[in-house]
Amino acid sequence: MKHLIIPILTLFCFYTEPLLAQNKPFKWPEGKRMAISLSFDDARLSNVDEGTALLNEYGVKATFYLVPNNAKQRLEGWKKAVASGHEIGNHSINHACSGNFVWARKNPLEDYTLEKMREELIETNRQLKDMLGVTPTVYAYPCGQTSLGRGKNTQSFVPLISELFVSGRTWLDEAPVDPTYCDMAQLTGMETDGKSFEQILTIIKDAAKNGQWLVLAGHETAASGAQTTRLDMLRQLCAYAKDPANGIWIAPVGEVAAYVKAARDTINIPEMVGPQTDGKIVLNANTGKGLGPKIQYMPEWKAFGWFTAADRVEWDVDITNAGKYEIQMEWSVDDTEAGKPFVIEAGSAKYAGKVGKTGSWETFKKETLGQLKLAAGKQKLVFKPDSQFSKGALLDLRAIELVPVK
Ligand SMILES: [Zn+2]
Repeated sequence: MKHLIIPILTLFCFYTEPLLAQNKPFKWPEGKRMAISLSFDDARLSNVDEGTALLNEYGVKATFYLVPNNAKQRLEGWKKAVASGHEIGNHSINHACSGNFVWARKNPLEDYTLEKMREELIETNRQLKDMLGVTPTVYAYPCGQTSLGRGKNTQSFVPLISELFVSGRTWLDEAPVDPTYCDMAQLTGMETDGKSFEQILTIIKDAAKNGQWLVLAGHETAASGAQTTRLDMLRQLCAYAKDPANGIWIAPVGEVAAYVKAARDTINIPEMVGPQTDGKIVLNANTGKGLGPKIQYMPEWKAFGWFTAADRVEWDVDITNAGKYEIQMEWSVDDTEAGKPFVIEAGSAKYAGKVGKTGSWETFKKETLGQLKLAAGKQKLVFKPDSQFSKGALLDLRAIELVPVK
């Protein structure tokens, strides 16, 4: 609950049109309407022989997902590409794809394990760092394939990509990335190979209408040929993207991903939360689900407000280690509203407390409350009022952190 001085009419609008953050257009920097990232896979020779010079002419920076052995054939060219500001991404060492491609059958994804994939991707980063002095933070799935093994033993390696990289890009997708919803580890990649500028322009115009992020993906950069993003198309695309009238932000995948990630910290997207590497479980308001008649996620405060007796917040949590956790809560409340009872529940575990004073609705405070003994496994953690108060609000809730007790 915030700013009680807001005129009644404003409140009325606020309540009658509960805006789901997900439905609001995404805010790109400097009033841009959309973002485009150009990306090229495999470290094809034509990328540094012809492609980067053209991009540099327009001051456009792209992402190149490299296979180290291919990159070695044009080491100087790739060093120059890095110096010009292009981004280097990871495209693995072996470029393993399904053995359904006959050429991939010697070392197919069907024969991979997650451990083998992990080792290979870490080794790819190490080799690229050695060669070019930069450590990739973005990855493109060879052949766009995200699982390994076969049949009942198939495993997705998306979680591994999510752990090791800021983003992962697939291939031959049908729609641009929705920045408010997308899984960073599965950014869609739309093909530029063999396309005319008119074909790409249709996709760009659609994406601009929806405020999306268009990650384009290709291979060779040359006048013509197989698996080739044509230079004439690329020239027109760069000119169009750089024309301020078109409202396009064109930047490498990693740069846009970092922007989207930061912006999404203020968007409410409920999702399953697991422990961090230190075992701590951080339940921020933007990953929780506000349920009830009045509760609202307030992006400007990164908190849930308008918390009446009938409202609650639920988080989906995945507890890996059963045991005692210390509860830390971050909240604000006007002193005249403080003191109402609340309860935090997860399965049979329960903590009951009273909302402490913070000074004002604008002053957030973080404090350790007590402990909760949690069972392992996926479950719901609920924060809700523990009394049927009829006036005012419970609190503004920004975060609950669960710190394992050693
Ligand atoms: Zn590839």
